[in-house]
Amino acid sequence: MPAPAFEPEHIAISKSKGIKIDWKDQHHSDYPLAYLRDECPCASCTGAHGTPPQKSNYSAENRAAAGKELFPMYKPSLRMLEVEAVGSYAIRIDWSDGHKTGIYSFDHFRKICPCAECKTARKAVATR
Ligand SMILES: [Zn+2]
Ligand SMILES: [Zn+2]
Repeated sequence: MPAPAFEPEHIAISKSKGIKIDWKDQHHSDYPLAYLRDECPCASCTGAHGTPPQKSNYSAENRAAAGKELFPMYKPSLRMLEVEAVGSYAIRIDWSDGHKTGIYSFDHFRKICPCAECKTARKAVATR
C-alpha cells in the first residue's frame, strides 16, 4: 500500500518569517509569510461557498512597500500568532490580521510550494 502522497519529514515554523518544510521525498519548501496568507485555503478566501473570494494580497503589498522608503504606518506587519496541528494531515494558522479559519493541509502546502521546480511544473499544467 503506498504511503500518503506528501508527508512532511520536518516542519520549521518562524512566526515572523514563515514556514519551511522538508518532505519525506527529499523535496524542500520555503513559504514566506505573505505568500502563505495569500494562499489561505479557507472558504471565505477562495469563495468556496459561492461567495466572492476574499483573497488577501500581502505579497503584492510587500513588493509595493519595498520600493518606498517608509513602510505604510497603517498596516502592522503580518505575523502568525498561533500555529496548531490539525490531526496529522494539516495545520491551522492564526494570523495577526485576525484571520484564523485557514486549515492548511500538507497536500495544499505541497500544491503551493513556491520553489522554481514546482512553479515550472504548475505552469506546464496550466498551459496544457
Ligand atoms: Zn482564509
Ligand atoms: Zn517545490
